[in-house]
Amino acid sequence: MSKCNICEKEVEEVFICKECGASFCREHGDVDTELCDDCRNYELEEKKQEEADIIDDIQDMEQEEHE
Ligand SMILES: [Zn+2]
Ligand SMILES: [Zn+2]
Repeated sequence: MSKCNICEKEVEEVFICKECGASFCREHGDVDTELCDDCRNYELEEKKQEEADIIDDIQDMEQEEHE
């Protein structure tokens, strides 16, 4: 039996996160991308931040045109 680093439960099978090396169970990570929930959330946050930055840039450009 192995232990999931996310929920701390003993499960039959764990996967290793390629980002942080944590063991995670089927429910607490993405088996296909080999990312635990922590890293998955982190990546989603980064993407959201990037999109927000792009929107800021566009708004800046539009403002400059009006001035
Ligand atoms: Zn788990
Ligand atoms: Zn991870």
